[in-house]
Amino acid sequence: MQANVYPWHGELWQNWQQLLGQDRLHHAVLLSAPKGSGKLALAAMLAKTVLCKNGVVEPCSVCHSCKLFDADTHPDFHWLRPESEGKQLGVDAVRAGNQYAWETSQLGGERVILVQNADRMGEAAANALLKTLEEPPSHCHFILLSESIDSMLPTVVSRCNKWKPKLPEESVVKRWVEGELFDSVPLQVIRINRGAPLAAKAFIEDASMAKHKALVEAFVAFVSTRQGLFTLTDMLTKGQREGLNWLSFLLLDVMKTQQGSQEAIVHCDAMDALQQIAKAVPLAKVMSQLMALNKLKAELVKHTGLNGELLLSRWLSGFNE
Ligand SMILES: [Zn+2]
Repeated sequence: MQANVYPWHGELWQNWQQLLGQDRLHHAVLLSAPKGSGKLALAAMLAKTVLCKNGVVEPCSVCHSCKLFDADTHPDFHWLRPESEGKQLGVDAVRAGNQYAWETSQLGGERVILVQNADRMGEAAANALLKTLEEPPSHCHFILLSESIDSMLPTVVSRCNKWKPKLPEESVVKRWVEGELFDSVPLQVIRINRGAPLAAKAFIEDASMAKHKALVEAFVAFVSTRQGLFTLTDMLTKGQREGLNWLSFLLLDVMKTQQGSQEAIVHCDAMDALQQIAKAVPLAKVMSQLMALNKLKAELVKHTGLNGELLLSRWLSGFNE
């Protein structure tokens, strides 16, 4: 796991270093930040530092512990995460974590348990974790990562020392991504990725920009000509979650365009497309379809067994009614 402090985490890292230096770091740290903002790398930096045999406020990177950490084989570092993207963190994983917490350190030092997606625990898993957080074993540190504290059990949150780093201004994010890629980046890429720098970088690297462009074009064609339902359904079914998020942003932008507002338009580099959709679909229809889309998105996340293709095609047909 790569340990790194990105520039926008500098201040927070200094705070943690101060606490580490004074031996006052809380046994359970909760780091809450958007997806794609680099919080895993920051958590890894904290874990590596806590485990390091030489450094107190930063890892030495040469000791046995640091070497093991870099090789992802540190016996006193446990990384709990959902089995796959989009799934919940299961109660079995949390119980295994609790067991680690009570074991003695293999290297005779501290132990660190990193809980990724702490906002995606079911009640049983959250309660299992809560028990250990309430009676923390000595020399054991918990680092919880979450995208949204609101989706966590309040009793778990209250047992943690909470940190919520702010993302930099979008112009700063844009410059950072451009510096990383040695290329210019459209502002809307930053906005589509909610200002999260690593997410915006990945968006360009994994060719999502082309997929996004194709989807917007297909959508404009569909609402303008009422043709191409199957092509569009197919595109959305294949790239489900992100495609639906993009359309959600797009419809909100269309609403703003229709109401004459330019404020916080996500698709600021696709104004022509927004105008065309705004002309083809009446405001009331845009609003009702956006609401239906958000409901559909929530259902697809909650019930994985649903026939997404059928529901998406039904939703798209709503534009023709
Ligand atoms: Zn070290």
